[in-house]
Amino acid sequence: MRCITGKLALIAIGGNAIQRPDENGSAAGQLDNISIASGQIAKMIKEGYNVVITHGNGPQVGNILLKNEIADGITPSMPMDVCVAESQGQIGYLIQQSLLNQLSKLGIEAQTTSLITQVLVDEKDDALENPTKPIGPYYPEDEAQRLAKEKGWTMMEDKARQGYRRVVASPEPKEIVEGDIIKKLLEGDLGINIIIAAGGGGIPVIRTKDGLKGVEAVVDKDLASFLLANDINADLLIMLTDVEKVAINFGKPEQEDISELTISEAKKYLKEGHFPPGSMGPKIISAIRFLECGGEMAIITTSKNLEGALRGEKGTRIVPG
Ligand code: ADP
Ligand code: MG
Repeated sequence: MRCITGKLALIAIGGNAIQRPDENGSAAGQLDNISIASGQIAKMIKEGYNVVITHGNGPQVGNILLKNEIADGITPSMPMDVCVAESQGQIGYLIQQSLLNQLSKLGIEAQTTSLITQVLVDEKDDALENPTKPIGPYYPEDEAQRLAKEKGWTMMEDKARQGYRRVVASPEPKEIVEGDIIKKLLEGDLGINIIIAAGGGGIPVIRTKDGLKGVEAVVDKDLASFLLANDINADLLIMLTDVEKVAINFGKPEQEDISELTISEAKKYLKEGHFPPGSMGPKIISAIRFLECGGEMAIITTSKNLEGALRGEKGTRIVPG
């Protein structure tokens, strides 16, 4: 067994940091964005950090679903859980290769691997009965009604954009099914090895009398990242997104960017509604859970500012207290 020396960091790369909203999501474009994160992560590894990587998949799984729709009738449409698995494969591959290339530029011999990861959710979770998370393309009303009838989808109107979208459930993740094997891979005698796991928050599954079964839902990747960070006893939880710092009064004239937040300040601002569900909320909740389970520090920043954030000069640090 290899003893892990140096600090262990769980780094969650945001789906929006891989494909920005104004980009079409070409493989080359995604690779360009990923290389910013992997360049910074490679430097961390050179400094002696051990790293496990998770990533979002919002924009990517949206594109996969759209392709399914367009090809419907020609090739069978895949259920949500299979689409999430597909997104883990494509994004994992890009991160895996990009990181390997960046490490090799620094003269570091390492191995990277992406692990298809399932996440257990509770079949009694109320969220499964109340789909709220919009995914995929916008449809006109008549098309939305047809899809609801034919496929049993829940469709919700988005008044601002004058269209209907499919909404799926976003249940609370309870357990990383592959958590143990990820920990063993880290401890294994393989030299420097970097694992990419729980992509898109993991593939949501429930436990049935016949075993595990995929569900039509998506799991928030930051909440799943906390679970994995806890499983592997990470020292740091780093969430890379598209804002350099967490703010209070975000988007308002009195917006104030924050460099350091204690647990109690984070809880207070969360209660006051500064961190909405579905975006900054789950990052802050995960940071709080992580620190309360013994984690040392959580960091929220952009890929570009990772190095600066580790030096305490950039981003937002969330610390005990
Ligand atoms: P990711 O793909 O990285 O998870 P999200 O869109 O889920 O990205 O979360 C990041 C977004 O959260 C930012 O782009 C920003 O628009 C939004 N946001 C909401 N509240 C805040 C806040 N208080 N401080 C900073 N960003 C916030
Ligand atoms: Mg998010």
